[in-house]
Amino acid sequence: MPIYVYRPAERSSCEYCEHGFETIQKFSDPPLTVCPECSSPVEKAVTVPNIATAGPSLNSKNTEKHGFTKYEKVETGVYEKTSGTGPDIISDRKK
Ligand SMILES: [Zn+2]
Repeated sequence: MPIYVYRPAERSSCEYCEHGFETIQKFSDPPLTVCPECSSPVEKAVTVPNIATAGPSLNSKNTEKHGFTKYEKVETGVYEKTSGTGPDIISDRKK
């Protein structure tokens, strides 16, 4: 259930609502208009829901899932596969 944040709409506020308060309500519940403690007017503050991390992260699992092969540089010109289906080692060194 969502958590709603309310703040006093006027200065007449009690200890409970003077700095705002949170309350859990069902989506179907009507929003509060007054403080449950002092009955002074309150308004719903803007709430920020959990923000998911922007975009998919490129961890090993994801790169593999998306068909990429991921390499990590082990030394100059040599890359070792950490995930995916490509060759295990890429090296630009002459053998
Ligand atoms: Zn109050």
